[in-house]
Amino acid sequence: MKTLALAALLTAAAVAQPIVAKIDATQAPRRLFGVQLSVPVTPGPCNLLYAKWIPGEHGPTGPLDGVVDLHIMAGATELNWQRDPLEMYRLKIEVPAGVDHLDIKFSFVNGFASEKLGVISWNEVLLYPEGKSGDDIRVQGSVQLPPGWQGVGALTTTPATGEIRLPEADLTTMVDSPLLMGQHMTHVPFQPRPFPNVPALPHGLHVAGERLEAVKMPADYNKVLNRLVEEAGLVFQSRHYAHYDWLISLTEVPRGFGGLEHHQSSDNVMEEDTLLEETGRQALAELLAHEFVHSWCGKFRRPAGLLSPDYLKPMDGSLLWVYEGMTTFWGEILPVRAGVMKPERWQDSLAYIAASYEHEAGKRWRPLADTATAAQRLYEAPASWKALRRTTDFYSESIMLWLEVDARLRELSDDKVCLDDFCARFFGGASGKPEVKPYQEEEVYTTLNQLVKNDWRKEIRARLDAKDGKYFRGALEKAGYRLVYNDKPNPELSAFDERSKGGVSRMFSIGFSLNSDGKVRDVNEAGPSAQAGLAPGMRLMAVNGRKYTKKILDEAIAAKAGSIKLLVENGDYFRDLTVNYSGGPHYPHLERIPNTPDRLSKVLHARAEASK
Ligand SMILES: [Zn+2]
Repeated sequence: MKTLALAALLTAAAVAQPIVAKIDATQAPRRLFGVQLSVPVTPGPCNLLYAKWIPGEHGPTGPLDGVVDLHIMAGATELNWQRDPLEMYRLKIEVPAGVDHLDIKFSFVNGFASEKLGVISWNEVLLYPEGKSGDDIRVQGSVQLPPGWQGVGALTTTPATGEIRLPEADLTTMVDSPLLMGQHMTHVPFQPRPFPNVPALPHGLHVAGERLEAVKMPADYNKVLNRLVEEAGLVFQSRHYAHYDWLISLTEVPRGFGGLEHHQSSDNVMEEDTLLEETGRQALAELLAHEFVHSWCGKFRRPAGLLSPDYLKPMDGSLLWVYEGMTTFWGEILPVRAGVMKPERWQDSLAYIAASYEHEAGKRWRPLADTATAAQRLYEAPASWKALRRTTDFYSESIMLWLEVDARLRELSDDKVCLDDFCARFFGGASGKPEVKPYQEEEVYTTLNQLVKNDWRKEIRARLDAKDGKYFRGALEKAGYRLVYNDKPNPELSAFDERSKGGVSRMFSIGFSLNSDGKVRDVNEAGPSAQAGLAPGMRLMAVNGRKYTKKILDEAIAAKAGSIKLLVENGDYFRDLTVNYSGGPHYPHLERIPNTPDRLSKVLHARAEASK
C-alpha cells in the first residue's frame, strides 16, 4: 500500500515537471524555427499531440505540414514514432523503461516571418502528451531572437532582446500568448481612466515593421486608442485581464490567417504603410477594436462548443453569430464612439451590408445559422461563387441581427434598455485575471429576458434560420432608417473597390464584381449578367465593342440603353453576351424615416464623458 502511494507520488512529481521548450528564432528570415523540447513522460505507450483545433481559427487548421526534420530521443537512443493513420495530429511512441523525459527536435517551416519581423505562435512549435487538458500541462518556454531584434508578447510585455525566457505557464496560456519580434519596433504604453466597475489597467500597442519610418507612431494615435479602450470597458463593465497588449506586424508578407485574438493580447498583420496613411490608421483602429472586444466576447465568455481543451476535440462553431457576430458589431461601433470613425461612414457601411445580403442569391438556401456551423469549411472556400455559396457571413450579417436586437430592446423598454445592458450582464462581473466562462445558446435568451420580457429565442432564431434577407429592412426601420438605392456612389463601396486595387463591384446593378485584371470575381446568380451567361473565372475583355475599363463599364450602365454587350474570355474561348439591364447605377444608402426614434444614432453615442 505504502509502495503504491509512493509510486503514485513519484508519477505525480514527474507529471508536474514542465515541458521545456527552447525555440531558436535566429533563422526567422528563412522562415525556419528550430525547436528543442524536453517532454516529461513515463515508460510505456505514449501519444504525442500537435495542436489541431486552434482557438480563434474555429477549425482544424494546426499547420502540421510545417513540422519537419523530427527526431525523438530517449537519452542517446532515437525512438521510432508512428503517425496515427486516422488522426494525423497524433504520434505514437513506446517510451523505454527507466526513461522520464524525451528530447524532441524538429524544425518548423510554416512560420510567419520576413527579413525584419516574425511571430512565434506556441501551438506551432509544441508537441505534448495526450490525455490532459491544456490547463494541466506546464510549459517553460524560451526564445533566442535574431541579433538586433526585440521580442514582446502577453507573457513578456517589456520588450527584450537576445534570449527571452518566459515565465512558466500552462499550455492554454502559452497557446494564447504569441511572441511578436522584429528589428524595427515601436511600443506605445497607455493607461485608460478608471470608471465604476472598470479598473484602470496597463495597455500597450507594439508594432513591428519592415522599416523604421513605417513604425513611427502618429501623434495622438495613442489618445484614439485610449478612448477605444475606455469605451470598450464601459460597454462590458469589466476587464477580465491583468493587462492587454496589441501585437501588430506591418508587412506585405502573406499570412494564412491574417491574425488572431487572445485573452490578453492580439496578433495581427496589416500592410506595411498602414500607419503612414489616414485610411490605414482608421482600418487599424477598427481591427484593434474587433480583436480587443474578443477579450470579453470569445475569450472570457466562449460558446461551450468552441472549447477544445486538448486542441484535438473538434469545435462546434454554431454560436459564431455571437462570438464573431457580436464582436463585429462592437468592432464597428466602438471606433465611432471613440471618434475614429465618422457616424456617416458606419451608415454607409450598414447600407452596403444590408444591400449585399438583400442581393445575395445564397441567402435563399443557406441561412445565417449554417454559415456559422459550416465556418470551418467556409473560411477555406474560394472567392468565386461566393454570393451563391455564401461565406463566413456570420461576421457582417450578424451586425444586422444585433442592431435589430438593440432596437427591439429599446422599443420594448421605452428606450431605457439597450444592447450595452445585455453586454454588461453577459460579459461583465468581477474584473480580474483571465478565465473562461463557457455558455450555451439558451443563456443568450435568458439574459435578454432578464432585461426585457420577450420571446427572444423565437425572434432571434427566425433571423438565424431565415432563407431570405427580408428582415434587414425591418431591422433598419426599427432603428429609424430605410434602405434606398440611387445613382449616388456609396463611399464604402468605392473604398472597397479601392482596397481591391482596381477591382470593381457592381453586384447591385448589372450583377457582377471584377478583380483588377478584369477577371470575374463573382456574379449575382439572380442578376442580369448571370442570366446572360456570365460566370466567375471569365475575363471581361470589352463593353459595347470597346476595350474594358472601369469607366467604360460605368458609362454603359449609366446609359440605361436596355442592353449591354460584353465580350468575355472563357479559357481559350471568346464569347459575346447580351445583358438585358436598363436600371442604371444602383447604390445603396440609408435614409432617415421622419418622425420615428433615431435609434441608430443612439447606438453610436460615446459613454466615457457621461460616465465620469
Ligand atoms: Zn474575430
